[in-house]
Amino acid sequence: LMARGRPVIGERKACLGAVVTIIDITNMKVLDRLKSEFVAKVSHELRSPLSTIHEQLALVLNDLMGQLSESEEHLLARAKEKTQGLISTIGDLLDLSRIESGNTCQEPKPVQLEDLLSNIVDFLGTRARTKDQTLLLERPADPLPTIKADPLALESIFGNLITNAINYTQNGGEIVVKADTTGINLRVRVIDNGFGIETRYLDKIFDRFFRVKNDKTRFITGTGLGLPIVKGLVEALNGRIVVDSVPDKGTTFMVLLPVN
Ligand code: ADP
Repeated sequence: LMARGRPVIGERKACLGAVVTIIDITNMKVLDRLKSEFVAKVSHELRSPLSTIHEQLALVLNDLMGQLSESEEHLLARAKEKTQGLISTIGDLLDLSRIESGNTCQEPKPVQLEDLLSNIVDFLGTRARTKDQTLLLERPADPLPTIKADPLALESIFGNLITNAINYTQNGGEIVVKADTTGINLRVRVIDNGFGIETRYLDKIFDRFFRVKNDKTRFITGTGLGLPIVKGLVEALNGRIVVDSVPDKGTTFMVLLPVN
């Protein structure tokens, strides 16, 4: 059951009472589950033929290298790129439906967050360097307590946030990942000095397929599924994610995870 309420205000602004509506959402929940199952099934069915198409396009491009006209090569390369985009979208949709069905954690084990972050920063550093960006990890003075979680889920959370920071920051920009503790929580902040996000979009960016479209973001490819995945994974760990952003100044995503 879901309840909604609003006060009833009289002529002299006195509160006369309240109207409470109680809605039976059983059917909505069932429909939602059926929708998720349907999306997961369709995605699964599409994944393997698309992978075949992608592999064959790569083979054709490779085998006919030098024999194709420039425009033929361009068309095939574009088809291959688009297929790769679809494969990523399908992978993200499958991840999201797995998270929504509550099936997030493979094997929780003690994780040293700084080491995990350090590996991600090393790995994504290559990508940042192609844009002349600096990507730094700021560790706390004392080592952080370990956290019991699925390392793959943590990699997905911070990999997505740091990749976004690289993608939505101009060449030469700066990205800092800060890890520390607030006593009850482990706190990780991914701070960039990039494009920023307008206030009116701040709660929309966590919706499926939502992408900000403007002159700066138009040519950046993405699925619009990264942040819904990140939020789902953080919440599955009983954590919280908060975003703060100023257009043309930068964005900070803060993840709080309970120390367990
Ligand atoms: P994707 O990056 O695939 O588009 P996400 O769900 O990860 O999807 O992000 C949704 C949108 O939020 C992005 O398209 C972008 O407009 C905005 N966004 C995310 N991270 C940042 C960031 N660090 N700086 C500016 N905009 C961002």
